[in-house]
Amino acid sequence: MQIFVPREISEETRVAVTPETVKKFVQLGISVVVEQGAGEKSLISDEAYKQAGARVVLNEKRSSELQNADVVLHVLPLDGTDIAHLKPHAWHISFFDAFRYPEALEAFKKQQINVIALERIPRTSFAQKMDALSSQSNLAGYVGVLKGVQYLRKTLPMLVTSAGTLQAARVFVIGVGVAGLQAIATAKRLGARVEAFDTRPEVEEQVRSVGAKFVKIDLGQTGSTQQGYAKALTDEQLQRQRDGMTAVCVRSDIVITTAKVFARKAPLILTKAMTDAMQPGSVVVDLAVEAGGNTEGLVAGQNVTTPNGVHILGEGYWERLVATSASQMFASNLFALVEYLFDKDTQQLRCDEQDAILKSCLWVKNGQARFE
Ligand code: NAD
Repeated sequence: MQIFVPREISEETRVAVTPETVKKFVQLGISVVVEQGAGEKSLISDEAYKQAGARVVLNEKRSSELQNADVVLHVLPLDGTDIAHLKPHAWHISFFDAFRYPEALEAFKKQQINVIALERIPRTSFAQKMDALSSQSNLAGYVGVLKGVQYLRKTLPMLVTSAGTLQAARVFVIGVGVAGLQAIATAKRLGARVEAFDTRPEVEEQVRSVGAKFVKIDLGQTGSTQQGYAKALTDEQLQRQRDGMTAVCVRSDIVITTAKVFARKAPLILTKAMTDAMQPGSVVVDLAVEAGGNTEGLVAGQNVTTPNGVHILGEGYWERLVATSASQMFASNLFALVEYLFDKDTQQLRCDEQDAILKSCLWVKNGQARFE
């Protein structure tokens, strides 16, 4: 079996294999081909890939290597032109939000490709090591705090000095999933006073266990799905939530929002009235920006400042800023997935749509889309 890792196009800084995972693939008897420069933005040289046992090919060979590949590993989906080179029944494994990449979806169908969407790996203990959504969200939570700090004109920890006392900054985290928990932990380590809120009641204990204060707002009936995701709130509940958290936002120096609801647009939580009420110089970091964002006035891909001086950060893809770490975790998730699917007898990946992992993440099977 041959894996090909084309260089990422667009702004992507991560790469789908590292020298460590190349070595492990080679040990399984799988050959790995890497396009020249694929690891550059993660500071992985072509030479390091070669030493690990990969064949590194020139950029001009991209189309012919796509034709030879049994499996393509990538962070984001290839575009239609690249997909047209793939051979029928080849595998394409990457994040794949088909709503955002309709052209790629059509191309995959036409070429009869097997497509795994990494964001649909199930949230089970068994699948944890393959869960790229979690590994990358974790880093986004960490980067989100650092970005907030970069814009804030205050220190985070309390500093008692002969020149006076600086109070600890206040950080408010809205949505305490993987990214939110890491944001709380990072802000705590930097010395901030941290408060947090989530609609899933079980989160209160987790928030306390990492040393933050849970903000209580009575929203009536809320809950989570079997997969562990939050259920969507009604419009009335969302309004109660906004009313309940305005005072917390006003006293916070940094507000980090991460609230998402699976397969839906992210809920609008911070209205213009709420950000207008915040102190000039305070910062909102919207980590839900890729899902539409939680903040009114957010500009996807940009950092903007409101007329009253509140910074709303919406750069997105925050984990790209720590590309070396993000690639290490992403590549490790992909190795675990490929190792699990690899059939040593046929030397190919198993394409069983009843499989516990594949039934939720195999978006296209031999060109047939499995999800609406
Ligand atoms: P997510 O990215 O879907 O959402 C982020 C957070 O936003 C969630 O905690 C959600 O409850 C919250 N949220 C939604 N609407 C909100 C609102 N209106 N106000 C405030 N918060 C709101 O979530 P996630 O990071 O994917 O994690 C969801 C859960 O799944 C967590 O408990 C996590 O620990 C669990 N999980 C389990 C596994 C596993 O077992 N393998 C893997 C990953 C995550």
